[in-house]
Amino acid sequence: MMYRIQFTIAFVFLIVFSAIGQTHLPCGTPPGKSDWLKRYQQNPNQFRNGLDTMIYLPMTVHIVGTNTGAAYYRPDFLMESFCQLNRDFLPSNMQFFLEGEINYIDNSDWYIHSTVIEGADMMNANNVPNTINSYIVNSPAGNAGYNLPHADGVAMGTQFLGFDYHTWTHEIGHNLSVQHTFLGWEGDVYSYNTPTPSEVYYDYTLFKDTLILDTIIIDTAIVEFVPRTNCAVAADGFCDTPPDYVSFRWPCDSDSLGLVKQKDPNGVDFWSDGTNYMSYSYDECQGKFTSDQSDAMRAFIYDRKPGILYNQNPTMGPITSSPDLLFPVGGEDVQFDGTYLRWSSVPNASNYILQVNRLSNFPGNQMLVNRIVTDTSAFVTNLNINWTFHWRVLPYNQVNTCTNFSAVETFNTTILSSLGELETVDHWTVFPSQLTAGNELNVVLENKESIDANLQVYHISGIQVVDQQVQLNSGINDLKVKTDNWASGIYIVTLETPNGTDFKKIIVSD
Ligand SMILES: [Zn+2]
Repeated sequence: MMYRIQFTIAFVFLIVFSAIGQTHLPCGTPPGKSDWLKRYQQNPNQFRNGLDTMIYLPMTVHIVGTNTGAAYYRPDFLMESFCQLNRDFLPSNMQFFLEGEINYIDNSDWYIHSTVIEGADMMNANNVPNTINSYIVNSPAGNAGYNLPHADGVAMGTQFLGFDYHTWTHEIGHNLSVQHTFLGWEGDVYSYNTPTPSEVYYDYTLFKDTLILDTIIIDTAIVEFVPRTNCAVAADGFCDTPPDYVSFRWPCDSDSLGLVKQKDPNGVDFWSDGTNYMSYSYDECQGKFTSDQSDAMRAFIYDRKPGILYNQNPTMGPITSSPDLLFPVGGEDVQFDGTYLRWSSVPNASNYILQVNRLSNFPGNQMLVNRIVTDTSAFVTNLNINWTFHWRVLPYNQVNTCTNFSAVETFNTTILSSLGELETVDHWTVFPSQLTAGNELNVVLENKESIDANLQVYHISGIQVVDQQVQLNSGINDLKVKTDNWASGIYIVTLETPNGTDFKKIIVSD
């Protein structure tokens, strides 16, 4: 049974949720079964779920900061959260991979938003098709997280991500069609002292494909009996998830059972099972999807989202070691306004997170560099003079982010009399120091004797554009460097000779 009521305010359940405490916030996903899930549960065996095959699902991660580009969720924390997500989905033979680069969005209104309507705007403006879109914000409409079926995206609060947190897993479960184990009780307060009804009503207005702001859509959920006689049609419609009527976040005992004693409509007592990711138990209670839930999520992908299965060979493989930091190490002196950092490559790693910090425990407010690099070196600029810095590197690939940082190394910043170290070079210039990409760059040196040297040019992001062995003759040498297709930005021209290394900066514009 379903009916519609005209209302001017459609957010009654959101107001109820936002009144609950801060530590264990609820999920803001609009409750309700999709038409697809209803059809699926009438005859699950007619749907392909390919259960024996591991499937790889592309994930676009959007990290939302403030208007000034501050307060982004840290990439190393993202790797921990993503590791936990993949651990949670491994028993379902599903793994997510990081597709494309992280999409950083500067928008204070989305960073802390108060309604899912704003969240829908954020998703409609940024979603990448044929991937699962996750938005990491500070406050997703006062919830720990939510999934919006009509906007097809998941929003997550930074406080509810990380190792041993399962809210992301829960919201992705929603995104793949699975509902709460207590479906129908959302926004309702169960009481043992009142007779348990055989039906409950829930609002699933926002579950529809469009936002109908002045219409509340109410549906009926049949209340599930303890003996499972009506499990196929009651609550979430899965017979391997036991009855559960508790719609606020709850702690569990050592058997992962809830502390709230409940009775079904026939008066049979029970306590909720806290192990399910789709219940409202605290994170430490949770640890599984049931096989019926897994089957439904996989069938949903094959039936409704086959386009996201486009890459079943993402960059993966175990990462069992950490990089060795090669330079600079042991507190050695480097040039204060620009230095290379180099580390060893790690098998199966495609990316590295490089961090440079004032302190050895790497707090966020002392972080000078927190950058994702695809190479095993990077150029770091604008460091303060006469400081000690700590640095470390985290390897990962598209699937495997359960990795460990390298050991921490240190360096000091100073003014190196680097020109003096190029003993055989009288002087060298690079011109023009500001040029347009495509024009020729001149490197001119006057040399005392013939030597072999190495000329390298790096974009300040660490991307190398020139790596060239050069023979320098005694006298004046004029080296021409092509700059076709160089991206705009600051570049560092480095000359490495047997007698020392020196660098100069240039600026390239489009
Ligand atoms: Zn939920």
